Amino acid sequence: MSLKYEKIHSCDLMTKAEQEGAFLYSKEYIKFLKACKTEWECAEFFENLLKEKGFVNIDEVKSLKKGDKVYFLNKEKSLYAAIIGEEDIRNGILMVGAHIDSPRLDLKPNPLTEKFSIALLKTQYYGGIKKYQWLSIPLAMHGIVYNKNGEKIKIVAGEDDDFCFCIADLLPHLAREQMQKKASDFIEAEKMNVICGSLPDNEVKSDKVKYAVLKILNEKYNITEMDFARAEIEIVPAFDPKYIGFDRALIGAYGHDDRICAYATIKALLASEDKVKTKVALIVDKEEIGSVGTTSMQSQTFDMFIKDIIKYTNQDVDLERVYYNSKMLSADVASAADDSSEGVVDNQNSNILGYGIALEKYSGSGGKYDASDASAKYMSQVMNVFESEKVAYQIGTLGKVDKGGGGTIAYILANKGVDVVDCGTAIVSMHSPFEIASVNDTYMTYKAYKAFYDKMK
Ligand code: MN
Ligand code: MN
Repeated sequence: MSLKYEKIHSCDLMTKAEQEGAFLYSKEYIKFLKACKTEWECAEFFENLLKEKGFVNIDEVKSLKKGDKVYFLNKEKSLYAAIIGEEDIRNGILMVGAHIDSPRLDLKPNPLTEKFSIALLKTQYYGGIKKYQWLSIPLAMHGIVYNKNGEKIKIVAGEDDDFCFCIADLLPHLAREQMQKKASDFIEAEKMNVICGSLPDNEVKSDKVKYAVLKILNEKYNITEMDFARAEIEIVPAFDPKYIGFDRALIGAYGHDDRICAYATIKALLASEDKVKTKVALIVDKEEIGSVGTTSMQSQTFDMFIKDIIKYTNQDVDLERVYYNSKMLSADVASAADDSSEGVVDNQNSNILGYGIALEKYSGSGGKYDASDASAKYMSQVMNVFESEKVAYQIGTLGKVDKGGGGTIAYILANKGVDVVDCGTAIVSMHSPFEIASVNDTYMTYKAYKAFYDKMK
């Protein structure tokens, strides 16, 4: 037994075969990331995967018995899945919960404009971004429109096409004043306008380029300018996920936060072997803007799902009691220390890429404000599970006290009485268009969630 806590690199814990397995897992994960850049694309991907594996929409069942697999798709953007266990649900359920919304630029409801013969789409940023990171990079458009007839039209442009979109940045020659500005003011939010066309249409007298773009949109998607108000269109980075480094040990991608944990959550649920406990995967939306709204963790829709399970399994127990006896991993990414974060992280209490999944006792900021603080007893239970299953994990916090802060969905479940702790992949360049995660940590995220589903009592 070692007296000192020393972080162990995942390579020192994993066999060669397991490391190869981790690489194969990361390849599948990369395929998922490439295909799913919005919350509804993720939700649809998971719904299809669950259906393929025998999960049934809970709206289609009248009764449930042990071993049954059900899911609920909440307004296209969040999703819950459950496997019914053998024991009384009064003893609590095991939950892993992640989110599938990522920071991005949303189109305004009336976005199309024209300046200097360039058609532009006005945006509003969603979640915590450094706005300057979104300038001069290739961007893609992912959206859904419900037209006047209520038909759903999907838009994906700038991905596998030979075109993309972008936001222009000022040339350095004329940027003397701009370069003196604070990073937060470097580009104004109202200047985050996306270039989407530059050929005029002479059918009209003014706004000729804007009109030409409207014509293309009408031909391609059968929509008009008014339909932007009946739409949800997101601007996201256009580049594909890619390994980083000669050794391919890291993955660079848009949206690791928090699809890396969401993917692991669903994969772990599907691979879980324990039959005793009822297991639930929560895949939620709107975490990046404070978990508000119908598809967020604060929505009562999740309670409805658990109430349905209680009802259809004919068990006589209050929802509150079930929550009180339940255990959860809040599956959200953590920060990893690197050259860029030196000075703002506490080296002794930070996570490092490649050292396994990050277990964070609490989040919040300052004097632990808004923290969901896991109990010593629950920490002990989770650590024992990870150790017994040879999960590479590390103990960390977000950063130095008073340097900033952040939260996850953990506190929302904690408020319901659930024992919950933050546990997710450590990330460098979080919330940037190209976030960095380690291949081994990516795999360990899955392994940790599977260990939790299988071994937590
Ligand atoms: Mn997150
Ligand atoms: Mn985030």
